[in-house]
Amino acid sequence: MINLILFGPPGSGKGTQAQKLVEQYELLHISTGDLFRNEMSNDTPLGKQAKSFIAKGELVPDEVTIGMLRNKVEANPNVRGYIFDGFPRTIAQSVALDTLLSEKNEEVSKLIMLEVPDDEIVDRILKRGETSGRTDDLDSSIIRNRIEIYKNETTPVYDFYSVKGKAVRINGVGSIQEIFDRLCDEIDNL
Ligand code: ADP
Repeated sequence: MINLILFGPPGSGKGTQAQKLVEQYELLHISTGDLFRNEMSNDTPLGKQAKSFIAKGELVPDEVTIGMLRNKVEANPNVRGYIFDGFPRTIAQSVALDTLLSEKNEEVSKLIMLEVPDDEIVDRILKRGETSGRTDDLDSSIIRNRIEIYKNETTPVYDFYSVKGKAVRINGVGSIQEIFDRLCDEIDNL
């Protein structure tokens, strides 16, 4: 299996690239952000729990997120691999992911970070907010908060996989196709 972590700050293009990677490599795309939005639009107990955190640009607590991710993986055992998008975002989530995969005799193949400067991220997310219907995309202070949380809580995930020799960074600025080609180079190298 190919088990990829698509990593990078909010608005770095993970969702866009994941869609293209799914076509190219026939992997299952699991976006925790999309899963949460789906739960919220169906007004499930999980969605209600997540809502206040997401509205403030904070992370949903690990127990909730990890449980939801595990359910999604266990519901889709017979796939060629997974693209994890927006997960793991904390060290606890990274440990949980490694445990989950090792139960399947699998492991993370690679973590690929899309590097994009802060100002560009804020511009991209505000632009996305015009059409996405996501309230967390409309307010620049909430966006800044998400970027801060990314720096403080999520970048350690990069180091966690880097010491295992599994983390790489690529330039996340350029055309969608240029960035996709950079990603494919990394994946074809596996
Ligand atoms: P983006 O990366 O563009 O900020 P996502 O769609 O990945 O957006 O996530 C939206 C929100 O969902 C996050 O700001 C956070 O509140 C919540 N969320 C998504 N993934 C996780 C996660 N792995 N752990 C905790 N909270 C998460």
